[in-house]
Amino acid sequence: MRKRLVVIVLILILLGNIFAPIEAKATTLREYEELLEKYKNELNSTNNQIYISRQQLEEIQNKIADTERQIKEAEDEIVRLEEEIKKNNEEIAKKKEESKALIEYYQISNGENIYLEYAFGAESITDMIYRMSIVEQLTDYNDRVMKELKELIRQNEERQKELEQKKIELKELQEELHQEAQKVKGDISSMAAMIPDIKNQLSNYENRVNYYRRVGCQPDDEIGVDCDRGNNAYGFVRPVTGNYWISTYYYWNGYSGHKGIDYAQGCGNPVRAVANGRVYYVGSNKDVYHAKMILIVHNYNGRKVFSQYTHLSGYAVSENQDVEAGQVIGYVGTTGWSTGCHLHLEMSVDVGWDYNSPGNYYSSYVSHIVNPYNYVPND
Ligand SMILES: [Zn+2]
Repeated sequence: MRKRLVVIVLILILLGNIFAPIEAKATTLREYEELLEKYKNELNSTNNQIYISRQQLEEIQNKIADTERQIKEAEDEIVRLEEEIKKNNEEIAKKKEESKALIEYYQISNGENIYLEYAFGAESITDMIYRMSIVEQLTDYNDRVMKELKELIRQNEERQKELEQKKIELKELQEELHQEAQKVKGDISSMAAMIPDIKNQLSNYENRVNYYRRVGCQPDDEIGVDCDRGNNAYGFVRPVTGNYWISTYYYWNGYSGHKGIDYAQGCGNPVRAVANGRVYYVGSNKDVYHAKMILIVHNYNGRKVFSQYTHLSGYAVSENQDVEAGQVIGYVGTTGWSTGCHLHLEMSVDVGWDYNSPGNYYSSYVSHIVNPYNYVPND
């Protein structure tokens, strides 16, 4: 008998565990402090990354300038060698002419004696022989000089080839460096583009943390439940602004009627969070209207308040994102069971759409639906 009782109690405990509502994570001050810290770190590390990337870019640009200088040097050297080759060729031609002239004189002097005096102005045979040997020495000398010049030209041409090759390599290196610089520049601009968003989040959480500390919240207090009860920093606001009209009001008796307020407005107009809160769901799988919807959880006056935005054309937030009252979360649409552009705003207290009512959530949820005008400004 006692054994059976124990078994029943155990079963009840197990059942109790299975069907116990799954509470989504509470928003505590500590959580906001951690988020604040997270964005502070993110801002610091992004700024550091940008700083490092800028230094890298500077190094790359210095290298580019260095290759530029080296290319210029190679080009100057090629021109200088060209000039030298030209000069040496001219020198060779001159030496050739000189030797040719000397040999002509020599031949003349060997042939006809009559031209001997005319050719060399020699005063005696000894003098003549002497002068002939000079001719030989001079042509030998010229041959040697020409040979040396030709060798010099060969060396210069070789050096030119080397320099042309070096130039090609430097240009390739330069191209690589330019690409690297482009990549780093891209990295810098995408990181810089992230900064405003991080700063935004940072100041958002900074404001929250400062505010909740000021009103006496402790780190483990759940905001709006354990502290800051009924003292919403920004209050409730309308989910749409500008020109709109109420196409259907709230009339719900717990099982039939219209569960929310329909704000008729052109598709694409911004839809705003009615109060500070955390986005619990974004999508079209949960909605009984088969529409695109967003569900936000607010902690207010010691209880959880839920706002649901339906028939949206698009989203501007993602799940688990903290939002401020009046922040744009999506856009008016006519998705799902809808006959025109409008926003259907539905609100509930304690139990939200699938939030803490797993299993047969629809039936456990509908009895918690309230008139949104209990919170948002009436029209
Ligand atoms: Zn509606």
